[in-house]
Amino acid sequence: MMRLQDKVIIVTGAARGIGKEYSLALAREGASVVVVDVLESGLNETAQEIKKLGAKSLPLRIDVSKEEDTDRMASETIREFGQIDGLVNNAALYGGLKRRPFYEIDVEEWDRVQAINVRGTWLCIKSVFPYMKKAGRGKIVNISSGTFFAGSPGLSHYVASKGAVIGLTRGICRELGQFGITINAIAPGYTLTDATLSINPDPKYAVEMANSRALKRDQHPRDLLGALVFLCSSDSDFMTGQTLLIDGGRSMH
Ligand code: NAD
Repeated sequence: MMRLQDKVIIVTGAARGIGKEYSLALAREGASVVVVDVLESGLNETAQEIKKLGAKSLPLRIDVSKEEDTDRMASETIREFGQIDGLVNNAALYGGLKRRPFYEIDVEEWDRVQAINVRGTWLCIKSVFPYMKKAGRGKIVNISSGTFFAGSPGLSHYVASKGAVIGLTRGICRELGQFGITINAIAPGYTLTDATLSINPDPKYAVEMANSRALKRDQHPRDLLGALVFLCSSDSDFMTGQTLLIDGGRSMH
């Protein structure tokens, strides 16, 4: 049985990488998926692949750090599908970052990381909230990172932003419960995507990460999909404010 039949779920950062895999996994469970990204390239391909699976899709070019964009994301979803059942806040400034000592990061880059990863997550929630409130239900999944639990050198702005995503999850959950809306986070460990490999070009890094886990192997986007579908489905209806750390047992919390 498909677990997300007739659900409409927005996935941000869906043009590539993990966000694309999340979108396809939700479509395989029967959801209509609104795929959102600031990048033009890749967005239509994700939407086409969803349609090939027999599900509906709407691609939207949106910058999650801008409120007029996130409001449009919500209103266009409503115009196309009439409802918003889920939101997966996966968009982030991650791919393209360079590891740099904290004292060499400039203020502009620091602020850009927070604007997309933290403000963007908050704005997307703010924009979908009126529709979820009216419906009396909703599932929100924020994407944090295992780096918040283990630390990671040279990415202090990113690690701080992913900690803030957990703070936001916990803060907002207290306000959403009364409306039947759940909000949880997934913290993925070091997952092999093009973005990860651009930040860590040395192949030895992946081997070190694999050896640091209880489950000694590489982590792939597919390792995250079970948790994502669970948090978007009614199976998780009495769970909110929580963070699932999926890293093969590297950190524990
Ligand atoms: P990625 O950089 O390929 O994906 C991020 C996506 O967000 C991209 O498609 C990008 O275009 C989009 N995006 C960036 N700025 C945006 C904006 N302003 N508005 C809309 N979209 C925007 O990285 P990924 O490896 O696929 O990671 C996906 C998510 O998982 C990110 O939140 C990342 O922080 C998180 N994560 C990744 C790993 C990993 O090891 N890959 C580990 C922990 C957490």
